[in-house]
Amino acid sequence: MNNKIMTVITIVILIAVVLFGVISQRQEQNEELELEEYENTAMMLDTVNTIRTYGPGGEEAVQQAFGRLEEIEALLDLYDEESSLNRINQNAGGEAVEVEAELLEVLELAKEFAAENQGAFDPTIGALTLLWGWGSEEGPSIPAQEDIEQALGLVDYNRLEISPEEQTARLEEEGMILDLGAIAKGYAGDEAVEVLLEKGIERAFVNLGGNIVLLGTKPDETPWRIGIQNPRSDRGSAMGSVDIGEEDLINGQIAVATSGDYERYFEDNDTRYHHIIDPETGYPAEGGAVSTTVVSENPSRTDALSTGLFVLGLERGLELAESLEGVEAVFITEDKEVYLTSGLEVDENFQLMDDEFIIVN
Ligand code: AMP
Ligand code: MG
Repeated sequence: MNNKIMTVITIVILIAVVLFGVISQRQEQNEELELEEYENTAMMLDTVNTIRTYGPGGEEAVQQAFGRLEEIEALLDLYDEESSLNRINQNAGGEAVEVEAELLEVLELAKEFAAENQGAFDPTIGALTLLWGWGSEEGPSIPAQEDIEQALGLVDYNRLEISPEEQTARLEEEGMILDLGAIAKGYAGDEAVEVLLEKGIERAFVNLGGNIVLLGTKPDETPWRIGIQNPRSDRGSAMGSVDIGEEDLINGQIAVATSGDYERYFEDNDTRYHHIIDPETGYPAEGGAVSTTVVSENPSRTDALSTGLFVLGLERGLELAESLEGVEAVFITEDKEVYLTSGLEVDENFQLMDDEFIIVN
């Protein structure tokens, strides 16, 4: 009897010792992971880009990812006359232009997302972007109505011809202009993460001018907390956050992008004229949202959707977001009303931080 009790006690003690060993080793590993954090920031793609990695090899991986962003910029930049994108623009109405396979890939994605967004996101918006003077030296201003009407006739993604066999792209009419500003950062985020993965990085935070891609979970396993900018306050003040835990990742990653009327705008006679243009009217979109945030797996699609949903506006945008699998969205109105798609729950994966805002649904 006594012997039996002694044996049981010994076994229990042994198990406790082994468990203690395992747990303390785990903790040491976690601490080690936390120590190997690397972060760097670079200006590219007209914006501030930050990449933070966890785990060994971060510095080299981030350098390579930045190198990748530079390559992408050289392909897609509307405001660089030498970019491959502008070779297509300069030949609008003329010959098809042979371009890099990568640019064709982005154009194909852009056409696909334009259809998904019912044309509200349109990569051929360039005639209007330039007419409004975005990116020009003189700065933006209100165009003449007849010029807007003329430019409207030059916006239609169905008139962008892509030939994968010939590896060429062509805009059907002279004056048509591709502007990939609403998808470039998302695409770049996608590629940056590819580079990090190739370099063996398993956890990272990538922020390309507000287009965020999360890779893996945080080393301490607490959820990522992604702040949503208060659209009517200073930069860096969040009105709430979307929290991303392991269960929210799709294939190990997730992207978050916001489009807002506060990003770039000018005022005239107390009216705000912002940079997101409605391809139906030629004017800054007035769909009832002042910011739209999208959470989904694919960074390019997330970026395109954030712009498209903004243009579609509160009603049509919410309806579209709700109909898409694996897509969540946050809409904020001028009156500080907040609309969430059904996969976002207050106090679960969405936190309200500023009580001036009201969650409507
Ligand atoms: P984002 O910040 O992702 O919403 O992208 C905004 C940028 O996309 C603008 O600065 C324009 O260059 C471009 N853009 C504006 N309106 C549209 C639109 N309706 N479809 C596609 N791109 C747009
Ligand atoms: Mg966008």
